[in-house]
This record gives sequence, structure tokens and C-alpha cells, in this order.
Amino acid sequence: MKPQAMRRAWVHPKYALVGVESGYRFRFFCALCGANRTSGWISAASEADARLFAEAEARRFFNGCHKCGRWICDEHYNADEMMCVECAPRKGRAGS
Ligand SMILES: [Zn+2]
Ligand SMILES: [Zn+2]
Repeated sequence: MKPQAMRRAWVHPKYALVGVESGYRFRFFCALCGANRTSGWISAASEADARLFAEAEARRFFNGCHKCGRWICDEHYNADEMMCVECAPRKGRAGS
């Protein structure tokens, strides 16, 4: 329906600035649970620049839902559908 949606940047992940010292340090969270990953120290001209670096690094550890664009951990990622389990619940599981 919307081919350009595939190219859109992901929505901003849930993150927190956890340290400012010799640089910036960020923590990124799975949108569906508390799983998180903390970046290393990043020195950049501004917090915004640093966050872009941190985001690029953290992306390797999260999955982007192709529907809602949120960041989710492997646990909450339906790899078959390339969506989070909220947008595409896994089949064959007991539940509500
Ligand atoms: Zn999760
Ligand atoms: Zn989703």
C-alpha cells in the first residue's frame, strides 16, 4: 500500500541518556520489555550527534518492527513476519 514506508527511518527507539562525562552514554530499550543495552562512551559535538552513533551501534542488537517501527529484542520479534509480536503474534502458542 505504501511502498515508501519501507524506506522510512525507524521511529526513535526508547532510550535514556545514562552518562555525560568524557562523552555521552545511552541506554536503549526493547519497546515491549525491559531488555536494554548500554552503549560505550561516545564523544561527539552534541548529544544529538552522539545519539546517532549510539543508535547505529545499538541497532545491531535490536530488531525493527516493519509495521510500528519500534525497537524490540529478539524475544519479542517475529522473524517470520519481520514484526514485533504485538503486531504479528507468533502462531502456535497457547495464550489469550
Ligand atoms: Zn523484549
Ligand atoms: Zn510492531
